[in-house]
Formats: sequence, structure tokens, C-alpha cells
Amino acid sequence: MAFDCDLFVIGGGSGGVRAARIAASDGGARVHLAEESRMGGTCVIRGCVPKKLMVFASSYPGAMEEARAYGWDVTLGGFDWLAFRGKLEAELDRLEAAYRGGLTRAGVTIHDARAVVEDAHTVRLADGQTVTARHILIATGARPFVPAFPGHELALTSNDMFALPALPKRLLVVGGGYIACEFACIMAGLGVEVTQYYRGAQILRGFDDEARGHVAEAMRARGIAIHCGTEVTELAREPGGIRATATTCGDALFDAVLYATGRVPNSAGLGLEALGVQLTRAGAVKVDGYSQTAVPSIYAVGDVTDRLNLTPVAIREGHAFADTVFGGKPTKADHHLVPSAVFTQPELGSVGLTEEEARAQEPIEVYATAFRPMRTQFAGQPEKVLMKLIVSQQSRRVLGCHIVAPEAGEMIQLAAVAIRMGATKDDFDRTVAVHPTMAEELVTLRTPSRKA
Ligand code: NDP
Repeated sequence: MAFDCDLFVIGGGSGGVRAARIAASDGGARVHLAEESRMGGTCVIRGCVPKKLMVFASSYPGAMEEARAYGWDVTLGGFDWLAFRGKLEAELDRLEAAYRGGLTRAGVTIHDARAVVEDAHTVRLADGQTVTARHILIATGARPFVPAFPGHELALTSNDMFALPALPKRLLVVGGGYIACEFACIMAGLGVEVTQYYRGAQILRGFDDEARGHVAEAMRARGIAIHCGTEVTELAREPGGIRATATTCGDALFDAVLYATGRVPNSAGLGLEALGVQLTRAGAVKVDGYSQTAVPSIYAVGDVTDRLNLTPVAIREGHAFADTVFGGKPTKADHHLVPSAVFTQPELGSVGLTEEEARAQEPIEVYATAFRPMRTQFAGQPEKVLMKLIVSQQSRRVLGCHIVAPEAGEMIQLAAVAIRMGATKDDFDRTVAVHPTMAEELVTLRTPSRKA
């Protein structure tokens, strides 16, 4: 059967764009891609990129305070949110154009429209046009989830945070994951009074316990009122703001409430289930190691599959798909030892097993140190950094590394290379320190803090 194209990609985010570009440029495939919103997807338009720029913006008051401690005669003026937002929008326009340009140069046909799957080889666009394809790739991502409760419609999600008409004076952040903690820090840095409610016992569930505690302490020291074991039961608009009623904190008034309570896959309404594509109970598209669904011509990558919801992972999954299907190189998406960073202030960088996971697996040694780095020590600031290695007693391999520090994201990227290569504690010890740095502590940790 002759198809209109070799590949139709639904979704122009990190995973879809990579797959389309590699299939077209390296695989010589005829590729179409449909995106109903803006090219670039969550990461570029309403996620990682604008978030990181906001992290930078929010770091200046702290830097000014530090500058004064170093002898600079500076005073902090006001922050012009609308000026920043305008620049942010221009930067996102630039990036969106770059993504579009990359696809066009690779020969991909772009449809600025919603697309749904009509049958195993046919896609229908919003205007009714149909396109047949040998393969279809679902790369539709995920969207913020807000639980149902009285007043939930008053809650903002991370999507709204980049387009606020003005900064709130008092912000309530609900949730304890990546997004909640990152926005709590950003907003506090920008001068907003931030309260954070989390239903569990400690924020950042899933990360190393000691590192979680360290981040929580640093966030509190920066003025964020974190309340654990707290759930909101109702939101109501009042003349003075939004009243939040919570299980253990009673009532409090805020100007805005951000819900960062997880994300759900964008799989509904695409026509998938009717075709036999299987979904999990949470709506994620079920795929095998090659990102293939139960319908052989249909694949899925990225957050819609809810495997490891990180941009670089979606990119790898998209690339592996293109190599497998169009490059003659069957490649499984690799989810092993994926490093990540939470862009709180200070950042949390993490790769491999947590102390708790490692301890359950085998006998370990823990090497950990918390100290005031030179830079803040000199400025008279109390904040400490944490450097931590989890080591197998038997193989001496480093099983995990956890860093809480400014620029921990940069450090963990490099530690992850060594750990992926199977570095042992002795390899770390043999590596000469770069002095004076914070990361040198990773190669000078001589005695275990504990064995377990
Ligand atoms: P997470 O899954 O990380 O966190 C969700 C948080 O909301 C958890 O603290 C969870 O609590 C809480 N929660 C869930 N449901 C409810 C509910 N009904 N009521 C109250 N609280 C609730 O999701 P995020 O939204 O923060 O981020 C989504 C994903 O995006 C992340 O998993 C990550 O993969 C990715 N991401 C990565 C970033 C990075 O790499 N820097 C940055 C931002 C996002 P509990 O712990 O009890 O389940």
C-alpha cells in the first residue's frame, strides 16, 4: 500500500521533534508533524526553559546581598515583572522559530493543527484532511493535574505562572514535587511571600532522604513557610484574596494559589483505545522497550508514556525510535542511571540510588559531608552544601551521588558520566581535586559517615 508519508508525528515537543528530525534527516523518511499549540512543547514553551530563566531572575536579590558582604555598595531596586515577562515571551518566540526552522530544514511537513488517529495508518487533522502514514508516533506529552475539590477552579497551574499579569504578594504552593519546590523558590526569590502545603511528611518524595531534608531546611531558611502533612479542603474567593482551608493549618488568605500536584498524559480523545492501543489506568500509552504500542504501526515517546518524565529522556526515546524504525539500528530507550536536577535554591542534583534504595539492595557505605562553602562562609551566610556518595561495600562501585548546592545540576552531570562508566570509590579517590571548589569534596571523602 502506498502511504502519503513514512511517519506522522503527533506532538511538537522534545520527543516528537527529535524523532521527526532524525527520521527525516538521517533516515531519509518523508515526515509530517502536527502540533495544536506552540512548537517546542512543554519544555520550551511552558516548562524547563522559561522556568530556568525565572530561576536566574529570582537569584539576583541573593546575589546583591552577597555582593554587599563582599564590600560592594549596592542597593536592590524593584523587580519589573512585566519587563521580564516581555523579554521571556520574545525569547520563547525565538526558540519556537528555531524549532520550526530545524524541522523545515530537515524536510518535515508541519501542520499547525490538532491531529487524531483514525486507523492504524491514518491521521485526521482538525480541518478534516486525512494523511496516511506507514508509522504514527504519539508524542503528545502531559498536562498539569489539579484534584477535584470545592474551589479547585481558582487554582493556577505551572502553565499560568509564566503569564501572570502581576506577581502576587502572597502565594500558596500546593505539592511537594519538582514543580512545587522550584516555583516556591523562584517566587520567594522574586520577593513573593510563599507558603507551601504538602500532604506527605517531607517534600521531594523519591529523592535521597538526607538531601530532601537539606533542601527543605534551606528553603525554610530563605523564608518559605513549608507545612507538611497538610491538605487543602477548599478554596474560596473573598474580597481580600483566596481563602484556603487546610486540614492542619486552618484558614489563610492568599493572592494566588499554585497547584503543582503532578501531571497526566495527553492520551484522551486521540482515538487510541478504539484501535487497540493499550493505556494504563492513569492514561499513559503502554509501550515496549522500543516505544512500540500494541498496534505495530503506532509508537509513543515522552511524557504520554509516563516512563521517566524528563525532557532529555523524551529526546532519547524519540531518537531511539527513529534509529529503530528508520535507521536500521534497533535501539531501546535507556532509562538506566538518568541524572536529574531540581532547580530549587540551592539546587538538588541526583544520580543513581538513594541511600534508602541502596540499603535495601545490598550492604553499603555512605560518604557524606555538609559544609559552608568558601563563598558563603566569607559572606557570613549560614547555608551549607551537601555532597554525598553511596558506595557498594562489595564491589566498591559508586551506586548513587546526591548534591545539594548552588550549581548542583552542573556538577551532577559530570558525576553521572563517571558513575555510568562504573566508577568505584577508589576511582573517585584517585582523582585529584580541583581546588578550591565545592565539588572537590567528592574526591576527598576519606571515611564513611556510616555503614548500612
Ligand atoms: P511530581 O510527581 O514530582 O509531584 C507531585 C506532587 O504533588 C507530589 O508532592 C505529590 O505528593 C503531590 N500530589 C499529587 N496528588 C495530590 C493531591 N491529590 N493532593 C495533594 N497533593 C498531591 O509532579 P510535578 O507536577 O512536580 O512534576 C511533574 C513531572 O515533571 C516530574 O515528575 C518530573 O518528572 C518533571 N519535572 C522535572 C523537572 C526537572 O527535571 N527539574 C522540573 C519540573 C518537572 P506525593 O509525594 O505524596 O505523591
